[in-house]
Amino acid sequence: MAVIELKSVRKSFGALNIIPGVDLTIGHGEFVVFVGPSGSGKSTLLRLVAGLEETTGGSIMIDGRDVTALGPAERELAMVFQSYALYPHKTVRANMSFALEVAKVPREEIRRQVEKVAALLQLTHLLERKPRELSGGQRQRVAIGRAIVREPVAFMFDEPLSNLDAALRVEMRLEIAKLHQRLGATMIYVTHDQTEAMTLADRIVVLDKGIIQQTGSPLDLYERPANLFVAQFIGSPK
Ligand code: ADP
Ligand code: MG
Repeated sequence: MAVIELKSVRKSFGALNIIPGVDLTIGHGEFVVFVGPSGSGKSTLLRLVAGLEETTGGSIMIDGRDVTALGPAERELAMVFQSYALYPHKTVRANMSFALEVAKVPREEIRRQVEKVAALLQLTHLLERKPRELSGGQRQRVAIGRAIVREPVAFMFDEPLSNLDAALRVEMRLEIAKLHQRLGATMIYVTHDQTEAMTLADRIVVLDKGIIQQTGSPLDLYERPANLFVAQFIGSPK
């Protein structure tokens, strides 16, 4: 079953035709990674799905609804950004509760939902702390937790690990893989890092100049790259 469906999605900024036309279907529970060099349109494509950019043409369906004309709040997606902007003066609990409070969810239900997610992410013992009292990895988990409490249809990650040092990056990569297994949630993950793409993805979408060069499993791309660009980018011997 398709959760996200892009049909002839285009995006121009003024005279710049950044995404000439993308067709893409993402299945329920799939972990899809957009990979490509800097400037290839990964973030723009993700932002189009999230509703943070308006399409110039084409249509986007999420969970059977045409969301092309809807804003980000109406798409029931969770965005996890590279700069995990937590509220510095609020506790972890308050950070994770905020979106639910805005949505006027009853207080008791907020408490239950936040504690469930905190347990899932091993944040229970940190609920009453402030962001500055946490390590980088813990803060990242809070940012993910804050996104999860709203039970989104799908998760969008834009280079969420690029601010972290190498060791923490590996640790967080494993965390995200575990999270995907546990939640069975649909995820779109943007990175320019081939290793991250190869280890996380069910399916990789290789972008260059706003055009999908190939989509396939990591093994497909490695063994049967569609062209020289993919071969060189993935590092397979073509
Ligand atoms: P990536 O995430 O793959 O590095 P982006 O999607 O950020 O690439 O950018 C793709 C291209 O679109 C780049 O050439 C970038 O300069 C251009 N671009 C992105 N956002 C804007 C914008 N708001 N206005 C003009 N050009 C933009
Ligand atoms: Mg980007």
